[in-house]
Amino acid sequence: MLLIGSHVNYNSKEQLLGATRDAISFGATTFMFYTGAPQNTVRTNIDEELTRKSWDLMKEKGIDINKVIVHAPYIINLANTEKLEFGIDFLKKELKRVEILGIKYMVLHPGSHVGLGREVGLNNIIKGLNEVLKDSNVTILLETMAGKGTELGTSVDEIKYLIDNTIYNDKIGICLDTCHLNDAGYNMNDFDKLLDEIDEKIGLKYVGCIHINDSKNEINSHKDRHENIGYGTIGFKTLIDIIYNKRLENIPKILETPYIDKKPPYKEEIENIKLKEFKNKVK
Ligand code: FE
Ligand code: FE
Ligand code: ZN
Repeated sequence: MLLIGSHVNYNSKEQLLGATRDAISFGATTFMFYTGAPQNTVRTNIDEELTRKSWDLMKEKGIDINKVIVHAPYIINLANTEKLEFGIDFLKKELKRVEILGIKYMVLHPGSHVGLGREVGLNNIIKGLNEVLKDSNVTILLETMAGKGTELGTSVDEIKYLIDNTIYNDKIGICLDTCHLNDAGYNMNDFDKLLDEIDEKIGLKYVGCIHINDSKNEINSHKDRHENIGYGTIGFKTLIDIIYNKRLENIPKILETPYIDKKPPYKEEIENIKLKEFKNKVK
């Protein structure tokens, strides 16, 4: 079964049940969400009954909770020495919440070195990962980044360095983001070449999620501006080829494309992907 979904909203009132319903309304077979506002630390308690109802609904609709993804809040920056302690603390709390929700994977932006240099930044991230993974049952998927500002994790080699140096590397993996990879300089028309490199250097089994986004910018632009599927420089056909690549069959694919007139484009984009046809024009 094609594992396709999008980013959905999780609000304090409906929690996982609201997120699940949103995903179903888009025709999705999986989904991703933040457990609260990504830019602050305000979190509400997880309601047991709502959680149980969401699990039931997922079961009824054939959504495998083992493929559902949480995205870590982006205020966490493990690469910055000054923010490391806060990051570790907050990430530990988030991982607990993810576990209570019954979810196995959390995507994390490795971090930005903010002028400290790549090596210092990468080693801070490793310190942070070792600390949070110690007593976690959730796997952290490191997202490949576009290289905007001082972002780290912009190449297969940097992701490899992080994974190789983390003690608990059975609880770590990779999240590929097509917009970020394009902006970082990887050619999305030759995805198999990238997969070969990952397989050789790290192992393809480490890939746990793929963010499917078109890009507003040219390859190697280091910008990170997502575009709707078929409207950017990567293009519809190339993204379809990635989504249906046999080597990525069991990996959840998540859309993080921009809203149009304050409305999510996901129902239409998911339908186009299922049809492999650029039928619904979302703008
Ligand atoms: Fe992300
Ligand atoms: Fe992403
Ligand atoms: Zn992005």
